[in-house]
Amino acid sequence: MNRLFDKKESWSNKERKTRQDESLAGMVKLGYKKSHRLKTILDENKINPKSIKTREDLEKLPVTSREKLVDMEMQEPPYAGLENPAIQIDRIFTSPGPVYEPHLSEDDNLWARAFFAAGVGPKDIALNAFSYHLVAAGLTFHSGLRKVGATVVPSGTSSSQIQVQLIKDLKVTAYVGTPSFLSAIIAKAGEMGFNFKKDFRLKKACFAAEPLFPDMRRSFENDYGIDTYQMYGATEVGDVAYECSQKNGWHICEATIVEIVDPTTGKNVAPGELGEIVVTRLNEIFFLLRFGTGDLSRIITDKCKCGRTSYRLAGIAGRIGDAVKVRGLFIAPSQLKLIQAKFNNLPLQANVSRVGNDDVLKVKVEKITPEIGYVAWEEKFKTIFREVCTVRIDQLEYLSAGSIKPEDKLIIDQRKW
Ligand SMILES: [Zn+2]
Repeated sequence: MNRLFDKKESWSNKERKTRQDESLAGMVKLGYKKSHRLKTILDENKINPKSIKTREDLEKLPVTSREKLVDMEMQEPPYAGLENPAIQIDRIFTSPGPVYEPHLSEDDNLWARAFFAAGVGPKDIALNAFSYHLVAAGLTFHSGLRKVGATVVPSGTSSSQIQVQLIKDLKVTAYVGTPSFLSAIIAKAGEMGFNFKKDFRLKKACFAAEPLFPDMRRSFENDYGIDTYQMYGATEVGDVAYECSQKNGWHICEATIVEIVDPTTGKNVAPGELGEIVVTRLNEIFFLLRFGTGDLSRIITDKCKCGRTSYRLAGIAGRIGDAVKVRGLFIAPSQLKLIQAKFNNLPLQANVSRVGNDDVLKVKVEKITPEIGYVAWEEKFKTIFREVCTVRIDQLEYLSAGSIKPEDKLIIDQRKW
């Protein structure tokens, strides 16, 4: 069996960039001609469409958030004038807002890369527990599963009891849906007197739309023998990234340009720094450039052992509203939780203040074990903190055990703006 979905996944970074830049320039040129909204956006920002030649040029354009897209679509239903009127659209989806999206072409490999990387293929019978009703999820995951040759059971949002019945009767091998729904299905199977691991053949799960928390993942994998994979996307732009067998970051899809930007300026942050995920999907149907997801992540540029050469997203660190900026770098509560997990659930709190024009980052930790506070421990803590958050700690303060309440905020911003 091939290790990769196609040869695009092994392109050199240079080749990928050249080809993506070409597609982007073509998309902007076509969009300027076909979409009066894109023409207006470019004209208003005094941008000649021919000047958008590379992904770096995208910075000239504003980021469009979901809220902004909903406003634009309300002014001009259904697609805000961002569509290509020359193309016959085969399906129209909606998502809360409401926001309407034309379905991308059937030729688009939506989600197929993700399923392939998760090892889903022709031998699988996959239960697709995403809704088929109005929203994009059900049908787009369905076509991705078909693209890798799997047989699909379109169970959608049927009750957990019906899902258990289908898994049993149809000898389902793979699950596609949210992690919380799979948990509910496993619980229901237990209530119905089944042993999920022994009685069923379900050994793979591909999750999207919800975070997969580490203990949830551990339980699926260790207690129920289910190999789990995460997929990331948005209705507005389709699939964005997916996990491979290394489970160390999510590979960015080939038809997608992902920028990690400072949400206040819309400019790209340095590689490895935290920022908002902004997506441009290369296509000729819907000219939505720089869609701001509101999700925070950072880019991993190291080579992945799986053989795919694309850069990866380091999961989702939270929503932009939750993050606090220190010396130009964002820290999100989820990063602090990661540090806590690395130090035996160490209670801690970050505090950002300003002295003169300088930001000061103080981190308070509880002295829950005797070695905390010693030089060796302090050095290790500061190093790991910097690795995870990319920001240096200015002051480390030790508190007695029990000083930080579980309900206290993880980050306090004391600066006046
Ligand atoms: Zn990989």
